[in-house]
Amino acid sequence: MTSGAVPSGAVPSGAVAARAPAKINVHLAVGPLRPDGFHELRTVFLAVSLYDTVTAAPGEGLSLAVAGEGTGAATGGAVVPADSRNLVWQAAELLARHAGVRADAALAVTKAIPAAAGLAGGSADAAAALVALDVLWGTRASRSDLSGLAAQLGSDVPFSLLGGIALGTGRGEQLSPVLARTPWHWVLGIAGEGLSTPTVYAELDRLRAAGRVPDGTGLAPAEPVIAALRSGSPAALAAGLSNDLQAPALALRPALRRALSAASDAGAAAVLVSGSGPTVAALAVDEAHAVRLTATLAGAGVFRTVRAVSGPVPGARLLG
Ligand code: ATP
Repeated sequence: MTSGAVPSGAVPSGAVAARAPAKINVHLAVGPLRPDGFHELRTVFLAVSLYDTVTAAPGEGLSLAVAGEGTGAATGGAVVPADSRNLVWQAAELLARHAGVRADAALAVTKAIPAAAGLAGGSADAAAALVALDVLWGTRASRSDLSGLAAQLGSDVPFSLLGGIALGTGRGEQLSPVLARTPWHWVLGIAGEGLSTPTVYAELDRLRAAGRVPDGTGLAPAEPVIAALRSGSPAALAAGLSNDLQAPALALRPALRRALSAASDAGAAAVLVSGSGPTVAALAVDEAHAVRLTATLAGAGVFRTVRAVSGPVPGARLLG
């Protein structure tokens, strides 16, 4: 295992590189806790233009180097493991088992997607690893095989593979693509340290048991937000955004309220917490508005990182 070595921008000879996007949930309805420990979800994913890259080169056994956002001292140390706990490593072992090949590869991840930020960065890396290793090893898995493997790695991984816009049901892994052509512009504000997804779900269960938020029976329908996405109207999308994980994320991280207000005050058409947080997603009415919002929020002093993104964009794809 290697840790901290910085993968170069160039792809080494014989290596295969793939990238996969971050996601925002423009609708996230969470049902009650199921007996299997998961929550039933009804969510609408939107893939946005912030990408992690995974490079797979020939090697003996598996090795992994991780570099970029969330891996250095600036974020309080290594949040992203560079060993078998990393989803990229797990994706490699799973694909090798599935295809009956040896798990031999030197893997490198370059992160632009902040870790534990509610943007599915780990899922993006797992999806990119499946795509890159399928080519490196010549395993020729079908998209549907890859999607089945993706679902075993995590609830968001099938969407990271698919990209675009999709309705997710079950744990979020059962996907129906949504066709909508309008590009949507957002500004992502990353504030403070990451939030653990299981902790945010546990806080939701606690708030529900205490009667402080609705109990989650009768999942809010996704049709209104899907219609808004198809309409192309930022006002309609702004009115349709919802996230059941926002209340528990705010309960765990009260400072997020200030971050949401800062984005509203800066003139965002709407603001919401992305997935399990703590990223704040601010909707812009167009690209020029997103540029202005980015400048204002970068100067507001509440976010560690501010990024303008747009979507839908494709899911995990080979580079070069
Ligand atoms: P989601 O929105 O899918 O619930 P997230 O975006 O909030 O997840 P991730 O960035 O996927 O969170 O990371 C969650 C945790 O997963 C990290 O704290 C880290 O310990 C672990 N992890 C494993 N592999 C990776 C990876 N390749 N990149 C980032 N985190 C990873």
